[in-house]
Amino acid sequence: MEINEYVTFANPSQLERKRDKLEDIDLLNHGLRGKDSRVLLFWQGMPMVDSQSMPVFLEPKPKILDFLPTKVFLGTNSGIDYYAGEIALQSTSQPNVVAKPTLFDTKIYQHPNFPNYQFQNLRILLPLLGESLNAELLATSKALLGWHKAHKFCSSCGASSDLGHTGWSRICPQCKSEHFPRCDPVVIMLITHQNRLLLGRSYHWPRGMHSLLAGFMEPGESIESAVKREVYEEAEIVVDNISYVASQPWPFPTSLMIGCKGIALTEEIKPQIEEIENALWLEREEVMEIYGGFRTDITLPRKGSIAEFMIRKWLEGTLT
Ligand SMILES: [Zn+2]
Repeated sequence: MEINEYVTFANPSQLERKRDKLEDIDLLNHGLRGKDSRVLLFWQGMPMVDSQSMPVFLEPKPKILDFLPTKVFLGTNSGIDYYAGEIALQSTSQPNVVAKPTLFDTKIYQHPNFPNYQFQNLRILLPLLGESLNAELLATSKALLGWHKAHKFCSSCGASSDLGHTGWSRICPQCKSEHFPRCDPVVIMLITHQNRLLLGRSYHWPRGMHSLLAGFMEPGESIESAVKREVYEEAEIVVDNISYVASQPWPFPTSLMIGCKGIALTEEIKPQIEEIENALWLEREEVMEIYGGFRTDITLPRKGSIAEFMIRKWLEGTLT
């Protein structure tokens, strides 16, 4: 199978990650202040964007850096060193402007210290990103900053740990352990039976939304075993002929989506309500009707997700 298109966040890397620079412990303190540096700010996990919802890369003036307790080096492109930083939660004395974005939040947040820009949920920006350096910088910084936020303590001894290697590790001052950013593999699968596609919905999704079944891989499990287990656990459908399609870094918070396809050997769906709210088969023509806007009872994944990518390829006949 050959697909000449990349999933958002999965285009070939345009960043020199410069491992030698990662060893430079002073880089965050000195390099970040250079004229060839740019910094992407996040607030409560949301990137700073302009009025067109495009990410903003600021020159790292000292008064900006003062707002950033956590800073990371992302890499270099065309002579520019890119960094990202998370604005401190208590960065404003006005409690009513502290953003608390929800999963599918579509609101635009304004920070009083940056009145010319706005902060938006990265999930909502996905359809705008396409294959670009911006997408890679956003995915990398969102995942890395989120990992630091969730891993402030050493998992060996429990002491508070420090940022290491320009943001690519955490080092424990107590037991000297070094911890590296994790990436959680998730299988997501396009399961078909003749002309039909298997879809399901989670409880917390917006009303009517359905997507491909997915689930975290477990220790000691192969990709194929995870696909079989998840589809059976969620819908009691037996699948076989599983193969890899594409992958997508998914920084919500630090997943790697592994897109697969498989063929159902059984037809009767029994949605497991402790796992998912609903599962159903849709004919290819029904899926086209939904994407054509002719149905209001069901919505499907938005552009920018690997689920939308695989469903679109199936509709085009690229995935059989
Ligand atoms: Zn420790």
